[in-house]
Amino acid sequence: MSAGHAPPSAAPAVPVLEVFSSFQGEGPRVGERQVFVRLARCDLRCAFCDTPESYPTPDRARVQRAPDDDGDDAPPNPLPVADLAAAVARLDAPRGLHRAVSVTGGEPLLHPKAVRALGLACRALGLRVHLETGGHRPGPLEEVLDAIDEATPDLKLASACGFPTPWDAHRASYRLLEGARKALCVKAVVAATTTPAEVERAAAFCAEHVPSAPLVLQPMTAKDGAPPPPPPAALLPRLHTAARRHHPDVRVIPQAHKLMGVR
Ligand code: SF4
Repeated sequence: MSAGHAPPSAAPAVPVLEVFSSFQGEGPRVGERQVFVRLARCDLRCAFCDTPESYPTPDRARVQRAPDDDGDDAPPNPLPVADLAAAVARLDAPRGLHRAVSVTGGEPLLHPKAVRALGLACRALGLRVHLETGGHRPGPLEEVLDAIDEATPDLKLASACGFPTPWDAHRASYRLLEGARKALCVKAVVAATTTPAEVERAAAFCAEHVPSAPLVLQPMTAKDGAPPPPPPAALLPRLHTAARRHHPDVRVIPQAHKLMGVR
């Protein structure tokens, strides 16, 4: 058996921020109950980031004890993947309460071996495996492709992120997902600084490289005083109109979990 096909018990330990049950708050599956596995560390620094606590590795993870319970366990990091899979299984009780496990971060593709092992273990539980990624790490994405069912890569707009859009890495990532038919959507966070011209270019890029996936424009959620500001309501239809010139399926979906006040 190759290392790439090792069972979860032989997989590396991985730094974890939290494991919890909640509702998917972003994209086409909004409202679906999922188990979230948030891995620590990120190699990007988006200006709008709502999870900066994921940048360092905390000494201990927070692992919710039961799906309707506020109590957390605090196992030390890094967690063996087998323990992580066991935590997911414990939360999905009764079995089938959740439709999927969402592997998120930080940037989960900093830990491809662990993501792959966790994905295979969660599939064995009957859970669909959903990967959230910045869409900028095509090499690690290829490593995990057979262990995930769908992914939501980002398109990092420079106007919202504060750094240049990584077009080449996005292109390679999108093509991999398109070839495997595993792109659920592409998510682009938009801010007050985002222009129709920038969104138009992004939409044409997505239509060319990942045509099967809807493009979701996600209005940035306001952060206390930190730039950039969220988009004014009047900007959203203009951005949508610009994107639709080049893309057949463009949706505007805010972060619903923030509206509900759940994590
Ligand atoms: S990729 Fe995600 S976790 Fe990383 S900085 Fe950007 S928003 Fe934050």
